[in-house]
Amino acid sequence: MELGTKRSGLTDRREVMRNYNTHQLNSLAMCEVVEKLGHETKKSGAYHVMLCPFHDDHHPSMVVKEHYARCYVCNRGFNVIDFVKEDKNITFLEACEWLYSEFGVGREYTSDTVRVRKSTPAITRLHARKPSPVQTMRHDWAFTLEYVAEHVSMQDSFCKCLASFFDKEKIRYVAEMYGIGCLGLDDTMFPVIDSALNVHNIKIQHYDTDPHSAGFFHKDRNAWWYGKKYIETHQCSASACCDVQCFFGEHLISYYPSSIIILVESPKNAILGTCAWPEYVWVAAGNKNMLTRQRMECLRGRKVIVMPDADAEEEWRTILDGMQDIATFIFSDMIPSFRAMGNKCDIGDWIVRKMATYIKKC
Ligand SMILES: [Zn+2]
Repeated sequence: MELGTKRSGLTDRREVMRNYNTHQLNSLAMCEVVEKLGHETKKSGAYHVMLCPFHDDHHPSMVVKEHYARCYVCNRGFNVIDFVKEDKNITFLEACEWLYSEFGVGREYTSDTVRVRKSTPAITRLHARKPSPVQTMRHDWAFTLEYVAEHVSMQDSFCKCLASFFDKEKIRYVAEMYGIGCLGLDDTMFPVIDSALNVHNIKIQHYDTDPHSAGFFHKDRNAWWYGKKYIETHQCSASACCDVQCFFGEHLISYYPSSIIILVESPKNAILGTCAWPEYVWVAAGNKNMLTRQRMECLRGRKVIVMPDADAEEEWRTILDGMQDIATFIFSDMIPSFRAMGNKCDIGDWIVRKMATYIKKC
């Protein structure tokens, strides 16, 4: 599975985000789109098939699913926008324009990316959906959603790094969505919140904010867990602050029931990914020990694109292959792109590098 937009220019991408709801465009019926483009499809089992326009195809090798097409000879997959872009050999922006002109959908929100998700799940707004007290009283949680909401901020070192690449309104939106906040002068807090909106713990991390330093955007102090410190200083009992038993961003999974999930390792990558591709729900597992069947339940029935750090791919594959009954786990074919940058590299490094190149060109 490819992330549809990786080849398009970032300027193009920004223009699209300003004007189009890509999620809506990608939700168009693939069959109708390919037929509009002049391709003939025929029914074959549960799906349609067609001659692949991207290789010299004589027996239909391209399977056309609801919102997705894949050629098993080229070994390439396409979402709706991607297919139009490649088939007509036009830019990502032009593909969106074409889809809009042909189908009349996809321009619901015209002013900014952040409107793509009309119902912004800002932590503060999520509060209104908090389950009944009976449910939340089961645990005496050390941190509350109110605490997180009060500390949402863009003054922390991580948001300062993001500000080198993304506009403020977008960072604010993402910070509110995940509850990113500031502690002390500019340490970043990443709260880990479950679907019942319990705050399991808060990870604290400081980032190097100097864009000219080699460590830019990387942690320059060890991460620590706020919950653990609370217990050590007897501000709460050991039972009140659990170990992290949920994914970072888990509270967003049920909020977007039809979105594709992208599973990464670190909260940092989930945030960078959301800034770059907000149409997906980005969730961070933390590490491979979190990849248990029990933990994966929150992903049940969903389509999950998996993007571990380059050096962890094999291990993750082995674990997740045994869990395909829970969710559809698809390893991203962007992994080779960031592995090419180094064995320790991840999608976050890739995005930062792409964004840095873009900024230099401006
Ligand atoms: Zn092909």
